[in-house]
Amino acid sequence: MAAAKPKGQNSLALHKVIMVGSGGVGKSALTLQFMYDEVSCSHHTDSYRKKVVLDGEEVQIDILDTAGQEDYAAIRDNYFRSGEGFLCVFSITELESFAATVDFREQILRVKEDENVPFLLVGNKSDLDDRRQVSADEAKARAEQWGVCYVETSAKTRVFFDLMREIRARKMEDSKEKNGKKKSIFIVFHR
Ligand code: GDP
Ligand code: MG
Repeated sequence: MAAAKPKGQNSLALHKVIMVGSGGVGKSALTLQFMYDEVSCSHHTDSYRKKVVLDGEEVQIDILDTAGQEDYAAIRDNYFRSGEGFLCVFSITELESFAATVDFREQILRVKEDENVPFLLVGNKSDLDDRRQVSADEAKARAEQWGVCYVETSAKTRVFFDLMREIRARKMEDSKEKNGKKKSIFIVFHR
């Protein structure tokens, strides 16, 4: 009888995702938020791997976060060829980045030769709605034309800040009540 397959990472399904989009749209921020619950940026093409549960099944996701420094088309095409799915990111605050998604789509289809390659059009920085240059309708229309889904998102979840403001206000209320009796010290954490 064959020995049981080791339950290592290698036995898990592996889904390979490539992040594409203009510089500054938030590809790294989205990647790092997903990997580490942290928003930051990176100027390099980096690859990440993580075990996640997808609809009840444990799988691995491999994310290649491109940095637009793929000077040679051959290198870029190699990256694209290795991908099984693509997050095509633009910033809703930058019209040029939306225009650029057309080029990325074209490059990907040329390499993958498959109109139905898994692909999401992602409008990032939805928290900056007051600086919006691309309407959700425009983006949806483009996605529909391509036969893909449009997702609007933000790498900056502000709920923590909203909550911290409430906590801070509450503490100030409390300290007013105790005014004179006790000195309060507020500690604010910045990330
Ligand atoms: P990349 O070049 O596509 O990898 O973009 P980065 O991830 O480096 O992000 C560029 C800048 O935009 C950084 O200063 C990020 O903190 C910021 N950023 C990324 N995503 C968001 C977002 O959803 N909302 C806001 N307000 N800023 C973001
Ligand atoms: Mg980046």
